[in-house]
Amino acid sequence: MKITSIDVMQLKSGNAGSSRGAWSPVICRVNTDEGLCGYGEAGLAYGKGWRAGFGMIQDFAEAIIGMDAMKSELIWETIFRKTFWGMGGGTVVNAAVSAIDIALWDIKGKALNVPVYQLLGGKTNEVLRTYASQLQFNWGEKIDKQTLVTPDEYADVTKRVIAEGYNAVKVDPIIFSDRHDGKGPWKITGPLEKKVIRTVYDRVLAMREAGGDDLDIIVEMHSNTDTTAAIQIGQALEELRIFYYEEPCHPLNVENMVEIKNKVNIPIASGERLYTRYGYREFLEKRVLHVVQPDLCLCGGITEAKKICDMANTYDCQVQIHVCGSPISKAAALQIEAVLPNFLIHEHHQRALNPVSRASCLYDYQPINGFYEIPSLPGIGQEPTPETLAQCEIITISNARPYMS
Ligand code: MG
Repeated sequence: MKITSIDVMQLKSGNAGSSRGAWSPVICRVNTDEGLCGYGEAGLAYGKGWRAGFGMIQDFAEAIIGMDAMKSELIWETIFRKTFWGMGGGTVVNAAVSAIDIALWDIKGKALNVPVYQLLGGKTNEVLRTYASQLQFNWGEKIDKQTLVTPDEYADVTKRVIAEGYNAVKVDPIIFSDRHDGKGPWKITGPLEKKVIRTVYDRVLAMREAGGDDLDIIVEMHSNTDTTAAIQIGQALEELRIFYYEEPCHPLNVENMVEIKNKVNIPIASGERLYTRYGYREFLEKRVLHVVQPDLCLCGGITEAKKICDMANTYDCQVQIHVCGSPISKAAALQIEAVLPNFLIHEHHQRALNPVSRASCLYDYQPINGFYEIPSLPGIGQEPTPETLAQCEIITISNARPYMS
């Protein structure tokens, strides 16, 4: 089954109801000479970088036109080793590799008429425990206020997600200042002012009191704190029994992360800005992470995520796939999470509630009472609607131009 062309498109899902900048999911569709096609996503919907991913997929597409679409491992190796920049890695390169790889697994599942989880080893998990993610931005389909500031607001949002059936949540309690609009001055690198530590503590305390002892609270720093600040915040929060502590310092600085791990009695999580086995290796060898968080649309796709997660298992690391993209990324995540024996919990991002994003693809997969069922359609079980595709500007690459053969 030969790859005949690869289409690249940006889903027109607006800003997904967010006031936090653009929302630009980049999708690829790999087409074959047998009429089957597969969809994958580059994990650059948020932040800055989608145009780079959009272009990177086109460049890598030239290297694999004409190859057998069923040989996903060989295609991964070809992009990695025979494009020069493939081995250089980084966010954009690996986002493009990921998009193509996910699309190939989608094709493989459709060709064999099985969901991807069957190809990866079959289910070890029948349902997936799910947490409500990023509560500092509020929660719900239509949100007027996306900046929570007071402890009462943090308590209120916690009660609302518990009423939906969740018993696990994630919050970044430091990203917004104590000012009414959540803006600065607000210095969150250390040593911290006492009022910053007190504000963070009071917000998380309000969530603990609103949610009770059984609520699992993940605390996320988005790498905005440095080592000193992360240790101060972490030590202050220890008594509130935090489930895990995410990206407490710069994601690429292993030794700083080790210092935090040694001084804070909360499990450490990171990985949404780590790519491939090569990026995870040192973090695992130094035993700094208790929970790894690869993003399928950034770490090198399903092929690479399975290897990262299996490698993490040998270091007693649990897995929470990072999920923050279109419904394509969600569907792919559910497939691999079904298989992983070291799966911990599924991330349901506040952005995934947005009606525009939910309507952009054929199936609206949502958790029920804090748990996901695993879709059983062939492939990843998701694709854009015809209406969505009609709105996309699509760039098609159909000529093979290998860099090295
Ligand atoms: Mg994160």
